[in-house]
Amino acid sequence: MTTSIASQLELLQQEIAKSREKRVNFPDNVRLIAVSKRQPLDKIEEAYQCGHRDFGENFVQEGVEKIQKLDKSDIQWHMLGAIQSRKCKDIATHFDWVQSVDRLKVIKKLDQAREGSPPLNVCIQVNLFGEEQKAGVDSTSCFELAEAIQEAEHLTLRGIMALPPKQTEYEKQLAQFDKIAALYPQLSDKYPQVDTLSMGMSGDFEAAIAAGSNMIRVGTAIFGSRDS
Ligand SMILES: *Cc1c(COP(=O)(O)O)cnc(C)c1O
Repeated sequence: MTTSIASQLELLQQEIAKSREKRVNFPDNVRLIAVSKRQPLDKIEEAYQCGHRDFGENFVQEGVEKIQKLDKSDIQWHMLGAIQSRKCKDIATHFDWVQSVDRLKVIKKLDQAREGSPPLNVCIQVNLFGEEQKAGVDSTSCFELAEAIQEAEHLTLRGIMALPPKQTEYEKQLAQFDKIAALYPQLSDKYPQVDTLSMGMSGDFEAAIAAGSNMIRVGTAIFGSRDS
């Protein structure tokens, strides 16, 4: 059992390295977030035993339960799912990162709830392909939200997160990721602490990295399929 998650993590690191070789202008490392939503606690523990320290969850209640049960101060927990404003307090109390911020009200609530703790790391979720069923904002709103996060005392703007339409062909994946990546330098030039371009999942991380991603969020390729 231990070997499977360990070997998946190892395999992924090899594939990440291979994909990084394809790009010339993006020297960053690629940070791997293990997306553990709807995965049992023992699998997260297994990945932790392999030395993995970044985990992502989509549902606040499920995430908070796991965070409390595991009780490891050296894990960085990333909130990735849609945010209901009444859950902002739980998110700000228990998570280290929120990658799915997409409106002003949420920024205000997270900021208030984080008072007294180190700043919460925030990414703006962008949605550049007009997918109405998904969260995220267009590029104009992205810059408005960035300014609000910058002004918030208890939040640190780290970058953008994207979840583009599913494509099976590499060239189509790459074209979409290139479009998202074009937004990133505009943000990082304006806000020097911005260092995160979070894009790429199990099915498309190679193209995401080739386009400049420096953070990928991978679930099934590490843990196998999820409980429904
Ligand atoms: C579920 C999820 C992932 C991981 O998806 P896989 O296809 O299992 O790798 C990454 N990012 C977000 C925002 C997700 O909701």
